[in-house]
Amino acid sequence: MVKKITLQGILFDEKSSYLRGPALAPPLIRKAYHSESANYFSENGEEVLPDLFDDKGDFSIHSYFDIEKITSKNLESNGPLITLGGDHSITYPILKAIHKIYGQVDILHIDAHADLYDNFEGDKFSHACPFARIMEDELASRLVQIGIRTLSKHQAAQADKFGVEIMQMKDFDGHQLPKFENPIYLSLDIDGLDPAFAPGVSHHEPGGLSTREVLDIIQNINVPIIGADIVEYNPTRDSHGMTAMVSAKLLKEIAAKIISSR
Ligand code: MN
Ligand code: MN
Repeated sequence: MVKKITLQGILFDEKSSYLRGPALAPPLIRKAYHSESANYFSENGEEVLPDLFDDKGDFSIHSYFDIEKITSKNLESNGPLITLGGDHSITYPILKAIHKIYGQVDILHIDAHADLYDNFEGDKFSHACPFARIMEDELASRLVQIGIRTLSKHQAAQADKFGVEIMQMKDFDGHQLPKFENPIYLSLDIDGLDPAFAPGVSHHEPGGLSTREVLDIIQNINVPIIGADIVEYNPTRDSHGMTAMVSAKLLKEIAAKIISSR
């Protein structure tokens, strides 16, 4: 019996630096995934039916440090894990839980922002910092970032220090995507997409990836995906649920990729 994909929603946006809202995202992404406007087929022909998921539901978070415990508990079912966020701060505690089972993993991180600040406005757990914490704790053997278009001097220095491989948006080439040798964790910040395609984010950063480019990146991943998160969808900034639908499509395609690589 093939293991199901474990699905968890993390209702948390307290580490957002600018606007709240991503805590509202998980149920809306689920609703878009079930929308009668679309079927459950992915582009590679896999039917991503709801029963492929072991859906643990959405979790209200009272303390940031509970995210690791909740994720560890949900990982007990041993399936690949997809998390619906939540702001991007949740990726650090999720990776701590992943590390306990898998050890160091390679990470593919799609984002407008490198999220490598040592601290942001005094908070080391801000959504601007998760990848600094992940690299300091040596939770990742490799970190590859795509879509970055806000690289500050401090973050460039942090990237050098941690050996982060960054394909900045200005240099993006869909035919020269990084190749992986080990299974990966995929961390997908919706603001990596251009706000024209995904307006429902707190930080509109023009000049980003198209939905098509992100789908191509996912479909071209050449190794198994052990876990993924879809973070930073902010429903309070969305227009007609468009970004919920984009997030749901990305969920479906990531799930299809996981299923087809079994
Ligand atoms: Mn981010
Ligand atoms: Mn971002």
